Amino acid sequence: MRNVIIIGSGCAGNTAAVYAARANLKPLVVEGVEVGGQLSLTTMVENFPGFPEGIMGPELVGNIKKQAERFGAEYRGGEVTAADLSRRPFRITLDNNEVVETRTLIIASGASARWLGIESEQKLIGHGVSSCATCDGFFYRGRPVMVVGGGDSAMEEATFLTKFASEVTICHRRDQFRASKIMLDRARKNETIKWLPNTVVDEVHDVAKGEVTGVRLRDVTNGRQWDQPVDGLFLAIGHIPNTKVFRGQLELDPDGYIISKGGAKTNIPGVFHAGDVQDRHYRQAITAAGAGCMAAIEAERFLEAEGH
Ligand code: NAP
Repeated sequence: MRNVIIIGSGCAGNTAAVYAARANLKPLVVEGVEVGGQLSLTTMVENFPGFPEGIMGPELVGNIKKQAERFGAEYRGGEVTAADLSRRPFRITLDNNEVVETRTLIIASGASARWLGIESEQKLIGHGVSSCATCDGFFYRGRPVMVVGGGDSAMEEATFLTKFASEVTICHRRDQFRASKIMLDRARKNETIKWLPNTVVDEVHDVAKGEVTGVRLRDVTNGRQWDQPVDGLFLAIGHIPNTKVFRGQLELDPDGYIISKGGAKTNIPGVFHAGDVQDRHYRQAITAAGAGCMAAIEAERFLEAEGH
């Protein structure tokens, strides 16, 4: 029997682990498929307080893990495949079919990349279609690529890709960008970046060849379609919360985000949330870390009130 199981190893999960471990609760962290969460896929983090020169995302999240392990947190690779929250202790099934019981649960399972959902895109994932410029940008040295999206991720990925690609086109479905001014300005100043506002991707070529050779685009203002050759297509169109195993048990909003009952509480006593799995507004490393801290403190108080 565990006092605390933490699902997820991003900034939220690892920070929850630091606090829970320091409170002597010996937490078990189930790392999930994206070990280190979204920070492990990013480059320089310039806005995490305490690092005036910035810090690389993987280093930041790795350091938090080391800190948690120093206080006795235990980490396990793999995924949670099922969760029974209908009675206490909660029962968590891991992907090797092992079932672990726990008095409290902190869900910090984050959110995964959203795709356009068109058939040709799905078929070419890993063959020119990517959701991670940091992971795959290197392969596009001297080649033209396209980034889809109008948020900070799209600006960051496009700017990063200019280090490798011959040309980077940002394709966005509106002419207004939700990216922050600083990120938008940085991208606008970069002459390698070309802009296609009011444009959507209707199809990715070339499924028959098994690799991306271009895209069929559409101007949403007049319906005009045309083809543009690109070797890489990077999706930066937001994320979907990882809450599938909790459907029907936890209160979720229509998009699948956990509905908070105040602080880090969910609708089930003893189950707490932290980070992007609940937060669709801020989604920053520092807010995720703060949420992880809150969840661990709530779990500690819950256990104390129950006499553990
Ligand atoms: P986001 O802000 O939700 O932006 C998603 C973008 O994708 C929007 O421009 C949206 O268009 C577009 N989009 C969504 N679904 C689409 C679809 N089906 N087809 C075409 N376009 C679609 O997501 P994000 O850029 O990943 O940013 C998420 C959060 O992380 C934000 O809070 C951001 O500030 C933060 N972030 C920060 C940094 C940094 O500070 N270094 C870097 C990256 C992200 P519409 O605008 O039309 O809805």
